Amino acid sequence: MSSRTRCRYVSEYFDLDTSELVTFNCDMEAVEDGLCIFHHPNYWSRHPDVVRKTFYDKIREALNKGDKLLCIGYHLPDIDFPGKEVNVAIYFNYAHFHGKASFLYVKFYENVSFIGVRFSGKTEFLADFSKHAAFSEAVFQENVDFSGATFSGETTFSRAKFMKNVNFSGSTFLKTVDFTRTIFSGDTDLTGTTFSGDAIFMNSIFNGNLNSSDAKFKGYVTFSNVMFLKDVDFSNTVFSRTVEFSKGLFSATAIFSNTEFLEKAVFSNSTFRLKADFSEARFLGNADFSNAMFLGEVKFPRSTFLGNVTFSRTAFLADVDFSNTRFLSPVEFSRAVISRHVNFLNSTFSDHVDFSNTTFLGRTEFYYTRFLGEVVFHSTLFRPGFPLTELRLNECIVFKSVHFEDPEKVVFDNTDMSKVSFIDTDITKVKFRNVKWDEYDNRYIIYPERLLLLKKKGDYRYRYIVRALNNLKKLRDDEEELRRVVRDLYKLDEKGLDEKMSDIIKEIEKALNTEVRTWENFILERIENQDLCEILITYRSLRENYENSLKYEIAGKFFISEMEAMKLSKRGLEKIIIGLYKHICLYGESCTRPIIWSVITIVLFAIIKLYIQTPKLLLPPLVMHDRINLIKLFIKNLEVSTYTFFQMYSDLDILTLIERLLSIILLGCLFIALRRKIERRRAH
Ligand SMILES: [Zn+2]
Repeated sequence: MSSRTRCRYVSEYFDLDTSELVTFNCDMEAVEDGLCIFHHPNYWSRHPDVVRKTFYDKIREALNKGDKLLCIGYHLPDIDFPGKEVNVAIYFNYAHFHGKASFLYVKFYENVSFIGVRFSGKTEFLADFSKHAAFSEAVFQENVDFSGATFSGETTFSRAKFMKNVNFSGSTFLKTVDFTRTIFSGDTDLTGTTFSGDAIFMNSIFNGNLNSSDAKFKGYVTFSNVMFLKDVDFSNTVFSRTVEFSKGLFSATAIFSNTEFLEKAVFSNSTFRLKADFSEARFLGNADFSNAMFLGEVKFPRSTFLGNVTFSRTAFLADVDFSNTRFLSPVEFSRAVISRHVNFLNSTFSDHVDFSNTTFLGRTEFYYTRFLGEVVFHSTLFRPGFPLTELRLNECIVFKSVHFEDPEKVVFDNTDMSKVSFIDTDITKVKFRNVKWDEYDNRYIIYPERLLLLKKKGDYRYRYIVRALNNLKKLRDDEEELRRVVRDLYKLDEKGLDEKMSDIIKEIEKALNTEVRTWENFILERIENQDLCEILITYRSLRENYENSLKYEIAGKFFISEMEAMKLSKRGLEKIIIGLYKHICLYGESCTRPIIWSVITIVLFAIIKLYIQTPKLLLPPLVMHDRINLIKLFIKNLEVSTYTFFQMYSDLDILTLIERLLSIILLGCLFIALRRKIERRRAH
């Protein structure tokens, strides 16, 4: 072969065996433009059969001789790889398969390099790769099928581009596989795929759907910084070691139902734009959702967390479902923002749970929730319905049939309890520190009773709405203050804050433009029926709670509420008696009242007796002489009345009898009130 007719193609390639750059000089005869039949960019299209046959012969020859097969930069027509047992290394770097490329049932025993290869037609690779399989920067313009393939060595797909669908279903990667910065433009099928080594998907982009259901990831997996632009399905997938989805973007539905995370699962700083479904997922190691943002609905029903879980600074912007979820280790919700309805129905927290600085802005349901360890609601922001907190009555925090295993380790500290309900929940020993209870009529009132009042008392309802609207107006007028409140609640940066502010101002203005009557109807339609008995029990528990912690002033205010609830629950005579008890001594809370009543009684009886004795004297006009007599007689009567009142005077007069009876009641009440005061003082 003369040098003039030799193909001028020269290139460098990375030798996978020696890990060094090697120069490749084509040794074929040039046919056109100084290039051989493989390197000429168009020759293959005019003489496909010649190119194909020569290519097949070249392969067979190399396989027979056991030579390294260098097809670097080749232009090939449709090919069906002829060898089935390939025991030589093959390099196709930057080759272009212009038609279909089929590598069905091929066993590659040595290194295979498809780096930078362009596959323009359909590609099939149901093959076994025993050593390194390099597909970095390869471009697959049509559908690719790797289903059932086995990759026994290291595999690299970094910066590869799958322009259409790619199928890895049922395939096996025994060592590390690298999909860094890979672009999956069509759908990706990883169903039932086994990754025995590490799987690196860092910075890759999935433009189509990703189905990874039933896949098994046995090594470390990272999907950090990955963009999933369509639906993602990891249902029934098993991650045996740490998996990272940090800073991931899930633009559509993300399904992790029944997924098993046997070690650490990291979702920190990830964004879920639509629904995220973790139903029945099992997290056996720690789970990190810190700083994640869920814009769509989030579901965790029947999922299990064995390790520590953090939702610290997580933003839940739509409904959250934690029903039947089991948390076996400490859980952190500190500084999380839960904007809408959250449901903890039947869920169990076996260890410490921290809601410090957590914001609850929607209806929050702790129904049948079991707290077995410490529970901290420190500076928790209960503002359901914000900014219309006072008007959206159904948005509230409800603890219903909640079980606190160790109530003394349950702490509400520096929280606003005005929209919190406890139903069928024992809170006698729960710690309430610096909490704000709502006040009404000089006593503390719990949310269910407020609802009851709003439902039954029209004038109260009217005043309540007017006051709520006035508060809103005040909030609207002081934009600085509103901004501060919104920033605290939503924990937003300046940019997010501006958007939120405009939404909230719109909402406030809409509320202010709504008439009181419309609000009344809105409220009446939505108030659920309240159980008076439950209200009574809650007041009793709170009274006992504060008595036990020696905070008698607060206990007293709850006691008054307890009696008010009792009065509401009674009818007829009992109701009248309780009513009198209130008027005489504020249910034994007031010493002043019985003293005043005693004085009134003594004076009143003195006057009545005076009138009976000398009715004429009381009629005008009175002369001086009469006046002096009258005063003398009155003082005398006052003396007798006082003696009577203190049971030191007796006659058969009916008035005396009545006064003595009244005195027993009033002094009895005074005695009760005094004893309560003294006992409390002694307990201090
Ligand atoms: Zn050549």
